[in-house]
Amino acid sequence: MKENKRTNKGAITELYGENVFSLKNMRNYLSENAYKLLVSTIRRGKSIDSKIADEVADAMKTWAVSKGATHFTHWFQPLTGATAEKHDSFIQPDNEGGVILKFSGGELIKGEPDASSFPSGGLRATFEARGYTAWDPTSPAFIKEGKNYSTLCIPTAFYSYHGEALDKKIPLLRSVEALSKQVLRMGKLFGVKAKKERAYATLGAEQEYFLIDKKFYRQRLDLIQTGRTLFGRGPSKHQQMDDHYFGAIKTRIINFMEDLDKELWRLAIPSKTRHNEVCPAQFEIAPVFEEQNLAVDHNMLTMEALNKIAEKHGFVCLMHEKPFAGVNGSGKHNNWSIVGPDGKNWLSPGDNPHENAKFLTIICALMKAIDTNADLLRSGVASAGNDHRLGANEAPPAILSIFLGDQLLDVIEQIEKGGAKSSKKTKAIEIGVTSLPMLPRDVTDRNRTSPFAFTGNKFEFRAVGSNQSCAGPNAILNTIVADALDEICTELETKVKKKGDFNEVLQDILKNIVKKHKRILFNGDNYTEEWYKEAKKRGLPNLKKTPEALRAMTSKRAIDLFERQGVLRKSELISRYEIYVEQYDQIINIEAGTALIMAKTMIIPAALRYQDDISATLDGIKGLGCKDTGTKGLLTEICDQTEKTFSGIGKLEKAIKDKSSEKMISAMEYLRSAVDELEGLIPDDLWPLPSYADMLFLL
Ligand code: ADP
Ligand code: MG
Repeated sequence: MKENKRTNKGAITELYGENVFSLKNMRNYLSENAYKLLVSTIRRGKSIDSKIADEVADAMKTWAVSKGATHFTHWFQPLTGATAEKHDSFIQPDNEGGVILKFSGGELIKGEPDASSFPSGGLRATFEARGYTAWDPTSPAFIKEGKNYSTLCIPTAFYSYHGEALDKKIPLLRSVEALSKQVLRMGKLFGVKAKKERAYATLGAEQEYFLIDKKFYRQRLDLIQTGRTLFGRGPSKHQQMDDHYFGAIKTRIINFMEDLDKELWRLAIPSKTRHNEVCPAQFEIAPVFEEQNLAVDHNMLTMEALNKIAEKHGFVCLMHEKPFAGVNGSGKHNNWSIVGPDGKNWLSPGDNPHENAKFLTIICALMKAIDTNADLLRSGVASAGNDHRLGANEAPPAILSIFLGDQLLDVIEQIEKGGAKSSKKTKAIEIGVTSLPMLPRDVTDRNRTSPFAFTGNKFEFRAVGSNQSCAGPNAILNTIVADALDEICTELETKVKKKGDFNEVLQDILKNIVKKHKRILFNGDNYTEEWYKEAKKRGLPNLKKTPEALRAMTSKRAIDLFERQGVLRKSELISRYEIYVEQYDQIINIEAGTALIMAKTMIIPAALRYQDDISATLDGIKGLGCKDTGTKGLLTEICDQTEKTFSGIGKLEKAIKDKSSEKMISAMEYLRSAVDELEGLIPDDLWPLPSYADMLFLL
């Protein structure tokens, strides 16, 4: 009640960021000197100076204890895709029979959790199975509140004894560095006045999710074990009326959303937008964009908060990519941009020819990057869950293409045609000389079917799954763009040296890029059959399922690229590939096992019970010599579908025995079709599972 009062007084500003050891907080707890050193460390994206480590640790502890913390943890992101934490208390014996609270610089900087059970893909032999965690000062420490006490969480990177990355953060940080290096290089070539020694990527991750009542969740083994419904007949009314999207938010939901925002704001997570999504029971939350590394951490924390606050409100939050068949699934829209050393957004068309040359170079670099590495970017969003979504006419297809909008596409086409010489006749764009026409920033006519869409001053990568960490796809995105810029800069440097005129050389380079990579551009409807055909003609890859998509990680091109840009060594990349393949197989295996047990112990018994009921009724009807127009037919129908269910069980058992994910998937589909038929026949009071209508509408 006390808290409510505070909020009602409009004291939200008071809560904002109170659970984060932000720079503002640090200033109050650190000496002038330590504060300055730490700030410059953070601004440069470097690791902390050991000279000030003890002081920073002590300050952090003092602050955390004032927030009720008894423990600290190195919070990290192993390759499971979730976050991990192991708590240690601040308690130490004082050697005088008592205890003191202590936290040293050593403990802050490096941790040694006995984390040998996390997937390493063979990077760690058992005798050196320990992983190490190292503080990432670019993401501030924060407090996780418990019922009585709280825990200080320190965002960390997780690596092996030999320094190999075992997590999602390290490659992301390395990829930002690779990107920064090339953007700085480009900045120099373009004569950009640098205010900072680094460039970075920005990220705004829109997060979709479902909420269902906890009592239904508890009755669904499939949701408990796999996060999605393995059976379930679509209700007559679901999302066809479009009456949920942006609709008035129900009281119980808004109460949840308010609590969620409050929790996030306390962590200085700038949660901004909340609304109903397309499917009933589906919602979205979006933050204000931030520097990528921080935004990724914040998205991971947002997902944690979604689960936690849902629980508090008697809901369960489903972040699976496809919890319900036949209706929309959930994704994450990954809004991505680059901030240059001048502190400006380099994906914003400028207001003078010089800025535009820079802007068009970045657009061309993206074309080159995505076209060359479409398969790799696709691999970054590959998961068992996301396979249900990509290409299902609700999310972009597995074929990657870029949407630029009509005007920008026109500009790009002019670059291909034009060049300095013919510019007057064809009115072609002259790089570094011509101003661009005003590009529309209107959000209403945006192409929502494109996997990679330019939206005025950023690209929106829409294929990320709702359950996935943004770290993986962004690391790939940064790396491939860095590599494209690397090549462009090298060519520019060499040719300018020889030939002289910068604009002419650039024009020529961009023209060639457009020529070579324009097949990646597509402004039309990505959901249509024609596009699939057209994309095939253009030779664009269409990697529909995870196993084939992941294979891109093992190509020589991928290995060379990641090594060249210093993002992943070959051993790191291959270990990741192996881990993801195994994860995929595990998920399918768990789904298959769950479907099997549900069919055998819930569905078949219900079907047989009903058969028994009807058989008795039929005997009664016959005994009385009454007319029967429907009962026998009904019994036949039930028997048929029950038989089909039995045969589905047989197929699934065989597939599991054969250890074939592909066969398990098709057996599950077969089984499901019979079970969903039965759901439409068996009486409600005999059916063992809450229905789609229950789950989607009773909130
Ligand atoms: P939508 O119509 O898809 O909801 P919005 O314009 O509301 O699009 O923006 C969606 C997300 O994009 C928000 O999280 C926003 O902060 C983020 N965003 C805006 N500008 C940038 C940028 N320059 N870099 C990264 N993300 C950005
Ligand atoms: Mg969006």
